[in-house]
Amino acid sequence: MRKTRVVKIGRLRIGGNNPVIVQSMASTHTSDIKATISQIDRLSDAGCEMVRVTVPDIESAKAVGKIKKAIDIPLVADIHFDHRLAIESIKQGVDKVRINPGNIGDKDKVKEVVIAAKDYGVPIRIGVNAGSLKILKKVDTSKWDSKRWASEMVKEAMEEVEILEDMNFDDIVVSLKADDAERTILANESFAAKTDIPLHLGVTEAGALVSGIVKSSIVFSHLLKQGIGNTIRVSLTEDPVKEIRVAFEILKALKLREYGPDIISCPTCGRCEVNLFDIVHRIEEIVYSNKLLRERAKGKKIAVMGCVVNGPGEAKYADFGICGGKGKGIWIENGKQAKVIKEADWVNEVIRKIRSL
Ligand code: SF4
Repeated sequence: MRKTRVVKIGRLRIGGNNPVIVQSMASTHTSDIKATISQIDRLSDAGCEMVRVTVPDIESAKAVGKIKKAIDIPLVADIHFDHRLAIESIKQGVDKVRINPGNIGDKDKVKEVVIAAKDYGVPIRIGVNAGSLKILKKVDTSKWDSKRWASEMVKEAMEEVEILEDMNFDDIVVSLKADDAERTILANESFAAKTDIPLHLGVTEAGALVSGIVKSSIVFSHLLKQGIGNTIRVSLTEDPVKEIRVAFEILKALKLREYGPDIISCPTCGRCEVNLFDIVHRIEEIVYSNKLLRERAKGKKIAVMGCVVNGPGEAKYADFGICGGKGKGIWIENGKQAKVIKEADWVNEVIRKIRSL
């Protein structure tokens, strides 16, 4: 793992030898306190470890205090354009602020935020987005290659880091995001080689479910395998709860974090005579949204297979599982066929088994 300083965000520590933290962002209007708390509760139940809310106006900045009191994970205020909203969010008790150097304005405004952050012991994330670099207003970028994009992103991040470090402020996290996988990778690699500042990884505007998962997986896998990245956010045009599952599945595949069971299931074919898609989706929905079930099933392999052609073979290497027949299935445990269960009982039987672990 890349050697970084440790930054404290509420009760969490990121960087150093700490595990890669999974975070997301609420998609509600922050001033709608009730809806925001409710969405954050769902995110937290899914395993989200830190959550960001947007603060576009003073009403939202005032709301973060109430939201913070009602939730059980660290809260981050996302600030663009108006530094006063960062200062108000800090006063309201937020655990971290994210500022975008591309639109927060001149040095003096950033300095005011740093003074407040120091007073309240709140870290700052410098969140550089390729699409809002300051230089974009002045130059034609049509001939830029990924390397040039990455170098400009790093340059703007370093300028901002210097302002903070000149004020002896070290509680800094940086993110360098682009909607392009190569630019994001190059920018993070270059920044990682220059500093010991923890990195928040993300691909901005990554797209809807499929493209978002593919881009995020490629970027995170490439960087995390080199030990670059201390916290990740998967951006999806989707319910943010889905981002948590995707983030953990990436970390699980890279063997960096554990997250519930490994549910293996077949794609089905003409031999399948049960509604396997529905069954697997229901099991996943129940297990991954429930902290207790995830904990109980952690590290277990559960096979849910469409028929007996490949099913028993696959299930043999699982801790337990089911193979389909016509409207029923064979329950297999520790490699042995244990009983026959009706299709309608598959989901309950898997959940009952997990509860008993
Ligand atoms: S396990 Fe059976 S239903 Fe599933 S893909 Fe294989 S042959 Fe088809």
